Order: sequence, then C-alpha cells, then structure tokens
Amino acid sequence: MIVFNNLFCILGIKLWLKTNTLNFILKAFSKYLNSVSSLSMIKAQITEIKVLLSSPKNIVIVPHKNPDGDAMGSTLALYHYLQVYNHNVVVITPNDYPDFLKWLPGDDTVVKFENQQDDAKSLIAQADLLFTLDFNAFHRAGPLMVKVLENSSATKIMIDHHQQPDNYAKYMYSDVLMSSTCEMVYNLIEMLGDTDKIDANIATCLYVGIMTDTGSFRFPATTTKTHQVIGVLIEKGADNTQIHNNIYDTNSYSRLQLLGRALQNLKVISEFKTAYITLSQAELDEFNFKKGDTEGFVNYALSLQGIIFAAIFIENKQDDIIKISFRSKGTFSVNEFSRAHFHGGGHTNAAGGRSDDNMQVTIDKFISILPTYKSELSQSQNGN
Ligand code: 5GP
Ligand code: MN
Repeated sequence: MIVFNNLFCILGIKLWLKTNTLNFILKAFSKYLNSVSSLSMIKAQITEIKVLLSSPKNIVIVPHKNPDGDAMGSTLALYHYLQVYNHNVVVITPNDYPDFLKWLPGDDTVVKFENQQDDAKSLIAQADLLFTLDFNAFHRAGPLMVKVLENSSATKIMIDHHQQPDNYAKYMYSDVLMSSTCEMVYNLIEMLGDTDKIDANIATCLYVGIMTDTGSFRFPATTTKTHQVIGVLIEKGADNTQIHNNIYDTNSYSRLQLLGRALQNLKVISEFKTAYITLSQAELDEFNFKKGDTEGFVNYALSLQGIIFAAIFIENKQDDIIKISFRSKGTFSVNEFSRAHFHGGGHTNAAGGRSDDNMQVTIDKFISILPTYKSELSQSQNGN
C-alpha cells in the first residue's frame, strides 16, 4: 500500500512538474510568436509610416507617468530623429521626472502636462501624429491626461515592450521580448533605413534607456543584438562612462541616508524566497526625499542570496496610496502578481502597482497572499 501511495505521489509530482513546465514552455513560445508577428506587422507597415513621415507634420510624443530612463531616453531620441525631417515635434510628459535624467539632450524642450495643461492640450489637439512610448494603455499616462489622449484624433503609433497592450494605435510596434523601448526606437530607425541619421544626441538618449531598463545590460532580455546596438551607439557618439556617471554617480548625501534606512527596514520571508522594504512618508520627509531617490532600492532586496521575489512599499500621503515596485528572478511573473492583487502590471520580472490601504494593511495583505504562490516561488530559479 505504502509502495502504491509513494508511486501515486511520485506520479503526481511528475505530472505537476510536467504541467508547470509545459505551461512555461507554452507561455515562452506564445511570447516568441507574438514578438515575431509584431515585428512582421510593423515591417509590413513601414512603407506607410515612411509616407506619413515624408512631409512635415505636427507630432506629439508621450511617455508614461513618472517617466524613467527608458521613457525619457526613447521619447527624446525619437524627438531628435524626427527633427532631422523638419517635423514640428514636442515631447509631453504627464508629470515631472527625476533630476538624474535632466541632463539628457533636449530635456529643456519637454512640456510637462501637469504644469502646462493649456499648452499641452492645444499641442495635442493640433497633432497629426501621436507617438505613445514605453506604455501601452492610456491610463498609464495618469488620470490628468487619459481623457485628452482618448479624445485625440491624431494617428497613433505605439512603441512599447510591456505586456497586454490595449488596442488604440493604428501602428503598433509592441514586443514584450525587447530589452527596452529605446532598443525598439533603434529598430524603427533601422527599418526606416536611417541609421546614418543617428547623431550623438540620439545615441546618448537611446543608450540611457537601454542601460537603465536592462539594469546595465544584465537582465535576461539583454541579447547579442542589444549589445550590437550599444556598440553602434558608442560609435555614433554616446559617451558610455559619462552616461553611467550622470545616471548612477550623482547621489545626494540624503539619498544615501534614505537608502540606509530602507536597508534597515528590509524584511526577509525565506519560506517564500521573498524580501521586502517599506518606507513611510515620515521617513521620506526625514531624508528630504526628491523624485527618483528610491529608484533601484528594490534591487537590494532582490540581491539577497536565495531571494527571487522582492518588493518595496513606499507611502505617498499626497496621493493617499502606497506605491509598490515588484521585482523577480526566473519564471515568477510579477506582472501577473501585481495585476491580480495590486492594480498594476509591467513585465515578468519588473512591475509596479499600488495599494489604497495603509502600510500595515498593505503589508498584511501581501504576506497573506504569498502562500498561494508557494509552488511558483519555489520553482522559479535564481538567475533564470
Ligand atoms: P517601477 O517598479 O520601476 O515603477 O516599474 C517597473 C515596470 O512596471 C516598468 O516597466 C513600469 O513601466 C511598469 N509599471 C509601473 N507601475 C505600473 C502600473 O501601475 N501599472 C502597469 N501596468 N505597469 C506599471
Ligand atoms: Mn521600458
């Protein structure tokens, strides 16, 4: 009897492993197919896009709210590229972005919707073409801007690498296998036969987005092609050492002190290979928090040996929410986790979300959900 029980147990585990592995393979294969079909779709439309761009147009380029390096790098690179053809181009961000991005070429031309609503609305109303970069659903531009985008009659072009895109764009270059939107903007320029138009400004902007979205070329979406593109960008004038300095070595003393507090607050739940950090509004205030100061903190939690799921919970009293960043290693999808429980989304290994509850309730909820994911968390391997 015991032999039979053991046999059934082993068969059960084998079947379970097979189903999970099969699911994983099917998901990876479907991502690959989507990627191939996205590339062939945009390739088929490239002649139409060329025609569209062959005479000067009013063009607005929009990144997601709280723009990061990839959002600002891709929008400004495209801005510089379209200027070569004498288009009337402007980048409109939903809101402000961190100081460590404020040296990017073209930064001084950016219109911030939050502060310049009338100007921004009239620019969008007059736009012939509207590019949405590094996001794929209008609500990601934030509540202030969402209606304006929905009501715009401009022809829409999406360039993005997040999962589950909405269907609002006439031209849609959406590929979840890409390292960054910046690498996709490079591909677009290449498909348009224009790599010779890439100057030092375009190269610098594209380098920034690829570097920041790949965690300095280490995340799994970093391919040989990514490195080849980086090689070309350096040839075209991107100063790699200077760019790394500008982004990573311009810390304020108070930011490093805030990091110290975040690390003191780090908690580990070994059973679920999970670690998380909390920062309250009072702690942010104590260390003179500025936008962008907590960027990258969550990666310290993920850098712990044996940890494959990390989160940071940051209180925002003004919006009355807890902003959350999730990171993972291997097959555990923080995109799906955040979509299911924290109103968010993103990529398999990096996603964001929010909670409308207070910090303690949010943490309790987070911890109470973990057992549901025990098998996924124990299966997901370090380092992919
Ligand atoms: P972060 O944690 O750095 O804010 O974001 C990680 C990734 O998830 C980024 O690619 C970002 O664009 C995406 N992301 C962040 N917050 C949200 C959100 O609330 N919803 C969705 N769909 N994606 C998000
Ligand atoms: Mn991105």
